[in-house]
Amino acid sequence: MERLGIGRPSTYASILENITSRSYVIEGKKGFLSPAPIGEKIRDALVSRFDFAELAYTKGLEDQLDEIAEGRAVYEDVVRGAWNALDGGLSKLDTLTITPAHPCPECGKALTRRKGQHGFFWSCTGWPDCKVTLPDEKGQPGKKKAPAPPTGIMCPSCGKELARRQGTSKPKMKGMKPRPYDFYSCTGFPKCEAKFQTGADGKPVFENQTKQAAE
Ligand SMILES: [Zn+2]
Ligand SMILES: [Zn+2]
Repeated sequence: MERLGIGRPSTYASILENITSRSYVIEGKKGFLSPAPIGEKIRDALVSRFDFAELAYTKGLEDQLDEIAEGRAVYEDVVRGAWNALDGGLSKLDTLTITPAHPCPECGKALTRRKGQHGFFWSCTGWPDCKVTLPDEKGQPGKKKAPAPPTGIMCPSCGKELARRQGTSKPKMKGMKPRPYDFYSCTGFPKCEAKFQTGADGKPVFENQTKQAAE
């Protein structure tokens, strides 16, 4: 953008914030941005309908704004031209239907990928009317985890209910296969990180808490 003379240094941060928070681009592992399917759809919808989607037009408008600042152009003339161009583009929008790339399973509105405290997740753009959220699976909305069945066993650390879960152990030595194991964890996670081994009777083993935490 800088090389093409589009935008101002002061607007780059908010532009990036907009296109990432709306999931038009996806941030890869190394911090590179790549267009998301919804971003490509929006580009296809804008290009050929709106002048501002053309680099030359946007650059020209920036130059005209500079001319206003320097007293070489009249504000009304520049804004009138931009307004008419925008109006023309809007009138072409009737022919457009955008179907969301990731529709909300409950209300059909678009899901959007967000960055939360514990990594990425998807939430419905119908919020706050629709409160659907889904986990992120490799940049796509994943399946909602079924809530763990109630165990009726309370966490000795915080008093919230414990949930029985399945984990997969990391191999301790080379050549060992990961094996599934059964454990209890606190539903107060992430505030409470208590975890307990499952005993032979299928109940959590509380005295192992300190040993587990140390591992
Ligand atoms: Zn929804
Ligand atoms: Zn707890």
